[in-house]
Amino acid sequence: MEKTANQTCLIIGASHAGVNAAFALRRQGWKGRIALFDRDPELPYHRPPLSKGFLSGDTSVEESLLKGLNSYEAEKIELHTGRSISGIIRDEKLVKLSDGTSHHYDALILATGARPLIPPIAGVREHENIFALRTATDARSIRNAFVDSAGKRVVVIGGGYIGLEAAASLRKLGGEVTVLEREDRVLARVTSPEMSAYFTDLHQTQGVVIATNRNVAAVGKNDDGLKVNCADGSQYPADLIIVGVGVSVNSELAENAGLRTANGILVDGKMRTSDPGIYAIGDCTTFHHPRYEREMRLESVQNAVDQAKVAAANICGTPTEYSSIPWFWSDQFDVKLQMCGLSTGYDQLVIRQETGDDPHQRSYWYFAGNQLLAVDAINHARAYMLGMKLLKDGKNPNPERLRDATLELHPRTILA
Ligand code: FAD
Repeated sequence: MEKTANQTCLIIGASHAGVNAAFALRRQGWKGRIALFDRDPELPYHRPPLSKGFLSGDTSVEESLLKGLNSYEAEKIELHTGRSISGIIRDEKLVKLSDGTSHHYDALILATGARPLIPPIAGVREHENIFALRTATDARSIRNAFVDSAGKRVVVIGGGYIGLEAAASLRKLGGEVTVLEREDRVLARVTSPEMSAYFTDLHQTQGVVIATNRNVAAVGKNDDGLKVNCADGSQYPADLIIVGVGVSVNSELAENAGLRTANGILVDGKMRTSDPGIYAIGDCTTFHHPRYEREMRLESVQNAVDQAKVAAANICGTPTEYSSIPWFWSDQFDVKLQMCGLSTGYDQLVIRQETGDDPHQRSYWYFAGNQLLAVDAINHARAYMLGMKLLKDGKNPNPERLRDATLELHPRTILA
């Protein structure tokens, strides 16, 4: 460890992945310089509340900081916000900033994340009050536009988790919200038809209009405000529009530096890129998941944090391989969804509806043959925790016993 005393680790991107990597490096014994750079001028904050408590007014960005400024100072972690990295010169182990300065590194971590994908919809970049949602600035702009708008008509383009969360948050504030989804169901890319149906029903019950099979072709403006035109001829008036159709990976720095990329920066199980002195972590990485035996890119806080810890351990000389089970959560209205595992490739779905006071409380158990792949738990922390434990232990519940809500949800009753 002493050998790191005069060494520098630079981290590009100071969000969930980068900040956690910096603190993990210190915990792992990195004695030298650690410098975090981010083009975002704010103190690093949690992103999940941006579409949840922040939009609905329950929390502020200032209350959602990843770490207080004093924590960076206490750990001697340099935090350079509002600073953009423009290039990496691998031969010289230098990163270049867009202000013309450069910094030497001994170890480099890319934690550059992703940015909202803006689809080629005519007019989508031309008018005011059309927003993507990734940063605190985006979230503030949406909130301000919503508060200032007379009509409070909101159209959300894209029925993924972020779109649905934003829809729920603004509906809670009294917005007239419509979600336009190109596929025949919301959440089509990420979950089962049964879960899509559940969330469609939840939103419709709360007064959100969910319109599927709507391919947005153009956005225009007239005296009545914004107008969203779909390919099938349908039209939706709006005071503000949120575009939530997915992300583009921030992999250009890596590409330009000659690192291998494929829908993300390619890393091995130790989070090393094709240059063994450069690591990449979080939303910007594509990696081979040993459990699922395929390449994937995950967009979740847990993945960013876990990969940060793996990179830090390896940089500090403790060989560590990534092997986490993915998990994710989403809050919409009064419903908390917690997911673990990946349901891709399932051939059997067991839905367990609890019989207690909460009509929402249920869990979705995905199997391939007898093997448990994933669990989606709605207002059901117990199902989520049990699912996670079974996945970790490689144990498979009996589908029939699982479905029977008169049996307690406990390993003793549901294991075959
Ligand atoms: P990012 O958070 O994208 O951070 C990358 C950082 O790198 C950015 O701050 C960017 O400014 C910086 N950067 C990039 N390039 C440069 C450069 N050249 N120079 C300087 N800086 C650069 N996940 C969950 O698990 N649960 C949720 O409920 C959830 N909700 C979400 C809600 C919203 C609204 C959003 C946007 C995301 C949500 N996510 C959620 C996803 C989660 O926030 C991401 O998975 C997580 O932020 C990934 O962290 P990251 O550090 O890898 O990347």
